[in-house]
Parts: sequence; C-alpha cells; structure tokens
Amino acid sequence: MRLGRIGGVVSAIALAATMTACGSAQKTIDAEPSAGAGGSAGALVGVTMPTKSSERWIHDGDNVKKQLEALGYKVDLQYAENDIPTQANQIENQITKGAKLLIVASIDGTALTSQLQQAADNKIPVIAYDRLIRNSPNVDYYATFDNFKVGVQQATSLLQGLGVDKGEKGPFNVELFGGSPDDNNATFFWNGAMSVLQPKIDDGTLKIKSGQTDFKTAAILRWDPATAQKRMEDILTKTYTGDAKVDGVLSPYDGLSIGILSALKSSGYGTSGQPYPVVTGQDAELASVKSIVAGEQYSTIFKDTRKLAEVTVKMADAVLKGGKPEVNNTEDYDNGNKVVPSYLLDPVIVDESNYKDVIIGGNYYTEDQLK
Ligand code: BGC
Repeated sequence: MRLGRIGGVVSAIALAATMTACGSAQKTIDAEPSAGAGGSAGALVGVTMPTKSSERWIHDGDNVKKQLEALGYKVDLQYAENDIPTQANQIENQITKGAKLLIVASIDGTALTSQLQQAADNKIPVIAYDRLIRNSPNVDYYATFDNFKVGVQQATSLLQGLGVDKGEKGPFNVELFGGSPDDNNATFFWNGAMSVLQPKIDDGTLKIKSGQTDFKTAAILRWDPATAQKRMEDILTKTYTGDAKVDGVLSPYDGLSIGILSALKSSGYGTSGQPYPVVTGQDAELASVKSIVAGEQYSTIFKDTRKLAEVTVKMADAVLKGGKPEVNNTEDYDNGNKVVPSYLLDPVIVDESNYKDVIIGGNYYTEDQLK
C-alpha cells in the first residue's frame, strides 16, 4: 500500500513534468530591472502579504523578512486581511517611506495597477510573490510554484485516492471546488486539475453529480473556508438525497478542505460505515496535515514556503544590486500586459504514505506538532 502510493506520487510528478511548459533548466534572461546598481546596502524593502487568516502567509512573511534582514536590508512587512484597499494603501505607504523594492503577494491580482505605476515612476522594482499581478507593465519578476502542476497533482491524487490509477472504473461521484477568481493562480490550479479530470469525466469514470462543472460556479471568493462549507452543504442537501454518496472532492486549498470536511461531517460522513470521501488540498497547513494523519483529509500539496522566500530574496538582492536574477520560466506567466520572467518551484503531493518523509523529514513540522 505504502509503496503503491509512493509509486503513484512519483508517476504523478513525472506526468506533471510532461504536461507543463515549464522547463527545468535554469537560465538567466535579459530583463530590465527598474533599479540601478549601488546604494542598496541597508535599503528598505516593502513586503505585502494578503492575510494572516491562513497560516501559509504568516510563514511566507516571516521567512522573507528574516532572510532579507540577514542580508542587511530593512523590511516593512504588512498584512491586509484580504481587504483590497488596505493592501493598496500599504503599498502606497511603502513607496512614501522610501522602499527601494516591493515584494507583493496580491489579494486581487488586477487591483494594483495604479500603485505599481507609482512604483515605476519612483524607479522601484516590483517582484510578484506567489500570485501574479495582472494588467501592469510594472512587474519585474515573479517567484512562485508551478501552479498548473499543483492542479495536476491535486487531480492525480484524487484519482489515486479513488483507486482509478489502479484500474477502478467507478462511476465515482465527485464535486469540484475552485479558488478565488481574482487570484491568477486559481485558474492555473483549475486548468491543471481539469487536464487530468476531464478525460475521466468524459469516459464516465467520474460523475459531477451536482452538474456544477465550470470554474465560475465552483470558485470560492477570497478562498473563504466558510463559503466552501456552505457550498458543500448546499450540494449535499440538493444533490445527495437518498442513497447517493460523495466519493471525492477536488479542493484547491487546505482551508477550504477543512470547511468541506466539516459540511460532510454534519451530513453523517466520517464514520466507519460512511467514511469521508477523498478530499484534496494545498499548502500542508498544520490542521490539514493532522487531518491527513487522522485519516480524514486525503492529501495536500506541499509548497515549501522557506524555498519560495529564498528564491524571492535572492531575486530581490540581485535586482537591488543592479544585477539579473535567475529565472527558469519566460513563457507561461503572461499578466495581460507582458510575460513576466519567473522562477517556478516544484510542488509535492503529500498524503498518509509520505508525510513522515516530506513534512517531518523536511523539518516543516515536528512529530510533536502533528500529535
Ligand atoms: C496560493 C495557495 C493558497 C491560496 C489561498 C494561492 O494563491 O498559491 O498556496 O492555498 O492562494 O491562500
């Protein structure tokens, strides 16, 4: 069982590698950073993160700050509790305070055009962190994980949990959840997942019993767990009457997965007679890894925020010193105005079979934290 699942994970990664346009060979490219060389020692860097309501962004902010400070930079780190005008104000304030570079994890990727223009007017380079900022020429670089691959992995893990990779034919009742429509990543996750699921829907292995198959209907604004819980409750009430049972749920983020599991629990799932369906996730948040260990959530996608911080801080340091940062993708992230040179990291499927190796072995959480 254990080996089988690990094998599945490995083949999923191999499959994903062939399905994305992201080349693994690292290269540097000739982009024109807006900042000049020199004068960067001890410079102020403005870092804006979306919210503290999700654990991952707290790790991201802490890691970026710590690593920048270790290089001698000053850091202004701000969280906006998912409020778009607050984030816009924070960026304006950072510009006023004399920030020499901005690192932005946006709430709404389309809402920062004028702030970024202000940054460009002041020759302040901008690095989009994890989420691409759209519709602006004033985004110099982008550091993220391979977002299409995240979706491929979520769907692959869902199929593994259902046993489809081992020949199970179903039909399985599956429901689909998408991320926040204003987050550029959400469509990448969705498209990656559907590239794997659509053929299985077409051949009858999977049935989306609610009939809610398009991203717009499945999307959860601001990644809000309560909204996901409510949508799952509605689907259960309207669609799963009589003996019909949910076998799997594509969930793009651990916070949503917790809400979805809670709706399922209220509806009688999570007992020996009626186990939870296969529910996916993303971010390896503590509550979700614990839930995986407890046999509730099936899987998550681990994105090591320490590494993302490292890549971003290296980029920032290179730009501030007037150099060219390393990127490994110059094709996939068109923000509607230009293709933003990007560095993509590799996400990893984590389930009950490999959490010890990846999460505990990788010092992301200790064994004690997972108890
Ligand atoms: C991130 C995910 C995260 C989601 C919700 C996305 O932009 O890439 O890691 O689960 O936002 O916070």
